[in-house]
Amino acid sequence: MAQRVGFVGLGIMGRAMAENVLRAGFPLTVYNRTPDKAAILAELGARVAATPRELAEASDVVVAMLSGPEAVYAVLAGEDGAARGLDRGKIFVNMSTISPAYAREIAGGLKPLGVQYVDAPVSGSKRPAEEGSLVVLAGGADAAIDAVEPLLLAVGRKVVRCGAVGQGSLAKMGVNLLLAGMAAGLAEALALVRKGGLDGDILMDIVASGALACPLFAAKREMLASGYYPPQFPLKHMAKDLKFVLDTAYDTGAAAPLAAVLSQLYGAGRARGLGDQDFAAVARVLEELGGGRAEGKG
Ligand code: NAP
Repeated sequence: MAQRVGFVGLGIMGRAMAENVLRAGFPLTVYNRTPDKAAILAELGARVAATPRELAEASDVVVAMLSGPEAVYAVLAGEDGAARGLDRGKIFVNMSTISPAYAREIAGGLKPLGVQYVDAPVSGSKRPAEEGSLVVLAGGADAAIDAVEPLLLAVGRKVVRCGAVGQGSLAKMGVNLLLAGMAAGLAEALALVRKGGLDGDILMDIVASGALACPLFAAKREMLASGYYPPQFPLKHMAKDLKFVLDTAYDTGAAAPLAAVLSQLYGAGRARGLGDQDFAAVARVLEELGGGRAEGKG
């Protein structure tokens, strides 16, 4: 019998991922805190649960794609929480980005119930979620990952096994630290040349022509030129993730001076009301620190 899947969290990423789970043929139940967002999945054939508990009771595997640790806690805890519907043999797959320490804490909380936890954050944004081409960074017992691998391959093109629970989230910390730094680095370079009177397009062409060329810079080019940042990966989530990067560096003893600066920059973006824009809006923070965006093309 096909594994019954419950999918919690139908935001930018979750909605597209849940659609791919359905397309792959898994019987699907969904839940979202704001119920309207479940309507499209219902039209496609998913069952909509009224509570996370009802969803978990109807599922063999529960997948969470939520904003962060507070949301994961809110979905698991309480009388209507998913933990009440998770019994022995079921698997909880958390694909939300949380800290490695919190991943281990939830896994420890579910263990006495006989519920296995798979740590499975993803690399890739809105478009890869729609295309089913995310890279899944998996942590957990091999048998648990084996059991959910077909499901993970319905939303991703690759599952990278990183080790025990928490190691997938640790890999995700590394990915997002690099991502935050690359976007802020490009934004700062653009702000520098624009202030000096050079068209930003000229810098972007130079970057695209040599060893610095990369899909990320190409994907953000239009946003950085227009100053309009429709959310693919909201800046508020990057600010959250940089906090976890710093917590992780503290826990492991790793040096993370750049993460501290990046956390301030993205945190300032959130404080300025840019949290729901794409994380490339860190460019706006840098422009404002320099007295505003320089006039001119690109
Ligand atoms: P999003 O659009 O902001 O969606 C967040 C989801 O969490 C929504 O379904 C929201 O429900 C739910 N939620 C928030 N607080 C909740 C609470 N207290 N109780 C119950 N549900 C709650 O975020 P997203 O971009 O899809 O990202 C989801 C996760 O993936 C985040 O951890 C993010 O860091 C990570 N991620 C995102 C990207 C990306 O490019 N967007 C890429 C990789 C990883 P409502 O609809 O009711 O608000």
